Amino acid sequence: MKSQDIRSKYLTFFKNKQHDIVPSAPMVLKDDPTLMFVNSGMAPFKEYFLGNAQPKNTRIADSQKCLRVSGKHNDLEEVGYDTYHHTLFEMLGNWSFGDYFKKEAIAWAWELLTEEYGIDKDILYVTVFEGDKDDNLPMDQEAYDLWKSFISEDRILMGNKKDNFWEMGDQGPCGPCSEIHVDIRSAEEKAKVDGKILVNMDHPQVVEIWNLVFMQYNRKANGSLENLPQKHIDTGMGFERLCMVLQGVQSNYDTDVFTPIIREIETIANKTYGKDEEIDVAIRVISDHVRAVAFSIADGQLPSNTGAGYVIRRILRRAIRYSFTFLDQKEPFIYRLVDILSKKMGDAFPELKSQKQLIENVIKEEEQSFLRTLDQGLVLLNRVVEESTSKVISGEKAFELYDTFGFPIDLTALILREKGLELDETGFKSEMKKQKDRSRAAGEMSTEDWIVLKEDDHQEFIGYDVLEANVKITRYRKV
Ligand code: ATP
Ligand code: MG
Ligand code: MG
Ligand code: MG
Repeated sequence: MKSQDIRSKYLTFFKNKQHDIVPSAPMVLKDDPTLMFVNSGMAPFKEYFLGNAQPKNTRIADSQKCLRVSGKHNDLEEVGYDTYHHTLFEMLGNWSFGDYFKKEAIAWAWELLTEEYGIDKDILYVTVFEGDKDDNLPMDQEAYDLWKSFISEDRILMGNKKDNFWEMGDQGPCGPCSEIHVDIRSAEEKAKVDGKILVNMDHPQVVEIWNLVFMQYNRKANGSLENLPQKHIDTGMGFERLCMVLQGVQSNYDTDVFTPIIREIETIANKTYGKDEEIDVAIRVISDHVRAVAFSIADGQLPSNTGAGYVIRRILRRAIRYSFTFLDQKEPFIYRLVDILSKKMGDAFPELKSQKQLIENVIKEEEQSFLRTLDQGLVLLNRVVEESTSKVISGEKAFELYDTFGFPIDLTALILREKGLELDETGFKSEMKKQKDRSRAAGEMSTEDWIVLKEDDHQEFIGYDVLEANVKITRYRKV
């Protein structure tokens, strides 16, 4: 099944269960100062869960663009090294605002996965909240009993508060959750551990695909819990991971979400994916990051030196760094991937089509300027090497190159290694930590780099409209 069809099947399924299907909200919510980027499907609907706004329909479903590169969810460093964490990904979600609860959420999830998508029941298993003594929370027996009617009990695993209890913040709606995992290990791999069911992360082919959150409590300011008068459902399924399962491949990067971009990289850079691990990592990083950067620019969030813009700039620079170092790309090239991306995803996300020119221009300019920096950094690094009397280059020097000239540390290390020198990594890390502490202290995000696109720039882009029509966003600050 093609990814396009996988997405529409999800939406149609929930449409048939009386859900309103809405387009993805933009990734930066201008009116939510508590969140730099939307990092889950529920973020745009926060006000409904808090009871500050009323939805037109108590059932909604969508595919939300999410970015997990800052704050509570930061998967950036994983990206490229594993095969199922992305910076930008789509989260398929269905919501009930005081409407249906656990019974339907579980039954529909099961029906969709096993009947509509035809996933073999024997590769699925689920987790249920085991309870928590300190918080006086009982085990989620209700969910356990519901799952029991679909799946054998040895495939229902207990999960702790960290994995199976969801909270919005220190206060507010919260509740237990059930995760659905797939085990796509080969028979050979399973035999290694006697077929034992593994938990998420213990094996790259045992992957969490869907999280069903049952909001049934409210955490009060004093930390105690009370039952919510209106219970809610919030679910999130990783679209690219679902595609991996349904397309019978072992990596998100082998699905048709990524292969067209990867083929284009191979052509332009004259490299082959799947032969050399270093090159593979680089190709995965670039194919992931170009999506994150392109989608943000399409949403009006340009790379810059502050706040969300700075995060985007860093993602793009990470991609440039990998292409410079491992794919030998000394000229701008990431912008050339935007065409295929907008062709492949422009139907589902029209902003990619309408903003294509802008995206290409911005990426190209960033590439040009950062490649210049890399060149200058190389000159400086050579000078440092020449002037050094020791075989070990100090952490401070490396940090200065990194911080002032944006010269990446792994590149520094690589070049030093080639020259038979070493880098004082401990010293570098401690400089890095000092800087992190400084920026944490600086706190407050700035949104001045946000640009509002002109009306005719994005006539096809309906994200904002729908967002404004359906979701009344009021300011919310954590107290
Ligand atoms: P994981 O444990 O794999 O990091 P999670 O528990 O952090 O996932 P949730 O917050 O429960 O993820 O989000 C719901 C779903 O979104 C997950 O079940 C997964 O399928 C998907 N997902 C989460 N993070 C990513 C990511 N970085 N890239 C792609 N999909 C993701
Ligand atoms: Mg995670
Ligand atoms: Mg998880
Ligand atoms: Mg989860």
